[in-house]
Amino acid sequence: MIEIENVHKSYGSLEVIKGVTMQVEKGEVVSIIGGSGSGKSTLLQCINGLEPIQKGHIRVDGIDVHAKGTDLNKLRRKIGIVFQQWNAFPHLTVLENVTLAPRKVLGLSAREANEIAEKHLVHVGLGDKLKVMPSRLSGGQQQRMAIARALAMSPDYMLFDEVTSALDPQLVGEVLDTMRMLSAEGMTMIVVTHEIRFAREVSNRVAFFHKGLIHEIGAPEEVIGAPKKPETIDFLKSVL
Ligand code: ADP
Ligand code: MG
Repeated sequence: MIEIENVHKSYGSLEVIKGVTMQVEKGEVVSIIGGSGSGKSTLLQCINGLEPIQKGHIRVDGIDVHAKGTDLNKLRRKIGIVFQQWNAFPHLTVLENVTLAPRKVLGLSAREANEIAEKHLVHVGLGDKLKVMPSRLSGGQQQRMAIARALAMSPDYMLFDEVTSALDPQLVGEVLDTMRMLSAEGMTMIVVTHEIRFAREVSNRVAFFHKGLIHEIGAPEEVIGAPKKPETIDFLKSVL
């Protein structure tokens, strides 16, 4: 599980996370919603150990991410992360892009890595694109390739940071469907998203971020369906 305990995070003198506490249980899908600049991406970066924190703790399967001596490379293998945009290596095929990390980081043979990459590419609906160059893929297909690439490392957790925000509206659905499938398979996920309907349908819990704090967290029917705080109500009005 992921345990976030009273986390404070600043960039220089700018405090962007001001005491956030939440847990994500195995198999749970927690969506994070909230306005731009509220600290959502920063929190994901902290969970992955890409950013230091000034106070509090983040534990992944009991391992304190920011403790001295924590093997961050080992930790990051547990956690797949997909961003708004991922720049694939343009001179490598889709399959080669997905086999790269399993070969270099996990030390798999070309054959093993190909097998795993192909399995995940088929799973996200790109079985007919293995030999294609990434530039030939649509935005939605590129995001599904990015998901396959993360899955090829066999992560225990998946973090998604606005993975559909840069997509044309007609391509959003295919990426959300892929995430829906992962959640149905029991993947533990933290999903930063503006897709409120998706958050409502797929999440076990929703957290509303505002100015570096969680203002509401709970079942989607509560936080999205019957928000209590004026900040949440205003935010939902602005996006729904
Ligand atoms: P969100 O993802 O909710 O839009 P972010 O976590 O990206 O918010 O940003 C939170 C705040 O931290 C913003 O004010 C942003 O400008 C600032 N910020 C983000 N990344 C950095 C950085 N690397 N250095 C300095 N300030 C940053
Ligand atoms: Mg962000």
